[in-house]
Amino acid sequence: MVCGPLRAEILVTGIVQGVGFRPFIYRIAAENQLKGTVRNRGDAGVEIVVEGSEENVKRFIDDLERKKPPLARIYELSVNYAEDKGEFSRFIILKSSEKSDLSGSIIPPDISICDNCLRELRDLKDRRYGYFFITCTDCGPRYTIIEKLPYDRPNTVMNRFPMCEDCSREYTDPLNRRFHAQTVACPRCGPRVFLTSKDGQILDHQDPIREAGRLLEEGYIVAVKGNGGFHVATSTMKPEPIIRLRKAKHRAQKPFAVMARDLEAVKSFAEVGKEEAALLTSYIKPIVLLKKSENFYLSDLISPGLHNVGVMLPYTGLHYMLFDSINEPALVMTSANPPSEPIIVENQEAVRRLRPVVDFFLMHDRDIAQRCDDSVLRVNRGTPTLIRRSRGYAPAPIHLGSEVKRCALGLGAEENVASCVLSGKRAFISQYIGDVENLETLNYLKSATDHLLKLTNLKVEVIACDLHPKFSTTKFAYELAEKLGCPVVQVQHHHAHIAALMAEHNLTHMIGICCDGFGYGSDGSAWGGEILYCDRDGFRRLAHLQEQPMVGGDAATRYPLRMVAGILHGLVDVEEWLYSNVRCFPRGEMELGVVLRQLESGHAPKTTSCGRVLDAVSALLGLCYERTYEGEPAVKLESAAIKGRDILCLTPKISGGVLDTSYLLKEVFIRRDEHSPADLAYSAESYLARGLAELAVKECDRLGVQAVGFSGGVAYNEHISRVIRNIVEGEGFNFFTHIQIPPGDGGISFGQSVVASWLN
Ligand code: ZN
Ligand code: ZN
Ligand code: FE
Repeated sequence: MVCGPLRAEILVTGIVQGVGFRPFIYRIAAENQLKGTVRNRGDAGVEIVVEGSEENVKRFIDDLERKKPPLARIYELSVNYAEDKGEFSRFIILKSSEKSDLSGSIIPPDISICDNCLRELRDLKDRRYGYFFITCTDCGPRYTIIEKLPYDRPNTVMNRFPMCEDCSREYTDPLNRRFHAQTVACPRCGPRVFLTSKDGQILDHQDPIREAGRLLEEGYIVAVKGNGGFHVATSTMKPEPIIRLRKAKHRAQKPFAVMARDLEAVKSFAEVGKEEAALLTSYIKPIVLLKKSENFYLSDLISPGLHNVGVMLPYTGLHYMLFDSINEPALVMTSANPPSEPIIVENQEAVRRLRPVVDFFLMHDRDIAQRCDDSVLRVNRGTPTLIRRSRGYAPAPIHLGSEVKRCALGLGAEENVASCVLSGKRAFISQYIGDVENLETLNYLKSATDHLLKLTNLKVEVIACDLHPKFSTTKFAYELAEKLGCPVVQVQHHHAHIAALMAEHNLTHMIGICCDGFGYGSDGSAWGGEILYCDRDGFRRLAHLQEQPMVGGDAATRYPLRMVAGILHGLVDVEEWLYSNVRCFPRGEMELGVVLRQLESGHAPKTTSCGRVLDAVSALLGLCYERTYEGEPAVKLESAAIKGRDILCLTPKISGGVLDTSYLLKEVFIRRDEHSPADLAYSAESYLARGLAELAVKECDRLGVQAVGFSGGVAYNEHISRVIRNIVEGEGFNFFTHIQIPPGDGGISFGQSVVASWLN
């Protein structure tokens, strides 16, 4: 074989910046005796030119795909062969170019500390021993430090920290594992960590991190600055600081996540299956909801009334050091955000906003470019289900089975919003933004979306939003469309949920069961327990839960006894029972009187929401009278049902495509004194699951559809999901749930952009 000299000009798109790609290219070029250049581009792509023998060039390209760094992803590789011009005398890494005519590349998510860095962190002889911001080409923050492309140190928040001689030497040494690591730093030149009083006064201390650990163990509350924002930390063993924290944060019930020392520690208080262990220890290091073990010994105040607890493992050097000087198995580690506002990222703001809550601050002097909350998952039947897709995932895309026709931007609904830009076969979903109900979160959505569009360099052709006319995301969609000069498509909420599921599994049509708290219906009423037929042209509503009155609208969401009153009014003698629980109405007898009078008049708005029915059962069983956080009554019902069995065995009452929920509430009410809340909770969930499955199966038969999907926030409920799956599969149909996106409203923007991109 004749191997003449050859030149290859290569363009790579994907996740190829911030993952050690250029050092890798440098190495394989040297291995293959090639001369040439590599450089980052302003569109997050990488440009390579190599010259050498044909055989070596071909082997180089082969190595490029086969041996790439573990975190690198190649989406497209274009190679242009030419004659060897003998242009180069060696292989070099060039200064990055600003070129940005390619699109669809992206920078990596934040990556937890790697084993090599952890070893150095603990090695007394290493020059980075005990240095909190230890990172390398394989680990460290990425998404949260990058201000603009290309990914070079001057374009990150590391630009304030000029490298010292030692760090420069590592950075420029091709054999060093920090060769071209943009986050390289050391105690001499890098970010510094310090402890302050609650007023922000720096407390002089030799070892501020280990001192903070000791303070935590003693029962103080410490705000800890992480990569994507501040956490509030405290002991998991002492009730006093947790009570204090709950009071100060006005968070009576909402569960706090904990960070455990290591996997062994987690196993001492929670049940950890194989999948869960894999997630906990992955480089993503998400929060995983785990079942508390029989002898759960952490404070009950961490997740009151729930059978599970959210746990994560340390993911930065700082986190590991916090545990070094203490014996606690775990620390409370909850996002520091004022109620319904984004997580705090700035030192001064932290002091201003958190002073009433915390005793000390453990901060550093490195800014956070993009805030990013921890991700949350739970494992149902061995399958991870995303609850919040954020740190460690965003902005890496999810991949579709087929290409979409046009580039669409989805902006979400109102709760758990994230934005999504969809193009070709990839959907880039932003970090978790939160509930967009005030200016702070709306601005956060705007800036995160803007950043996402800049990073991906995609040109939006259509904007998708919710059907609700008053959501601030809807208004934002029209504003942005005006600016970008593109059309807006308003997508019905449950249609978006099911379209997301179809796109995830590359299906053309499906019967979707969509159950959640609230979605604005095509008829303007409140939906939330829907059976839909969806295909790529649209959807039809086939069946739903019975309409129930929501006395006082949003007040009925907050106080589920209002739902009980509405459902049972006129059906059984519920008034006496309601009066015996009158203390659970904030304004007592007067309020209950108003509720009952409104029911008499029949003017209350109606909803088919499954969430509201679960809430009502929860209140009826005395499990939860006030929803202080999203889904609280329903998750407490699920926790109670864990220990129950189907004692009522109710046959679903269905007529005209409507599942009777009054019947369910009535049976639970009548038999409330005969059985345990656990059995009644389980029976109620079973009834709804069987009814929904029956409705779906009937429609599959009628329409000749093979695929059934389950989406919406209720799909987190393992019991309901399992019962539906068993029936659907038992009848010979295929059952689908979400894998890569959250079943809840965090997946809505993806579904919206899917619908908009499918339209002609
Ligand atoms: Zn590392
Ligand atoms: Zn240094
Ligand atoms: Fe929803």
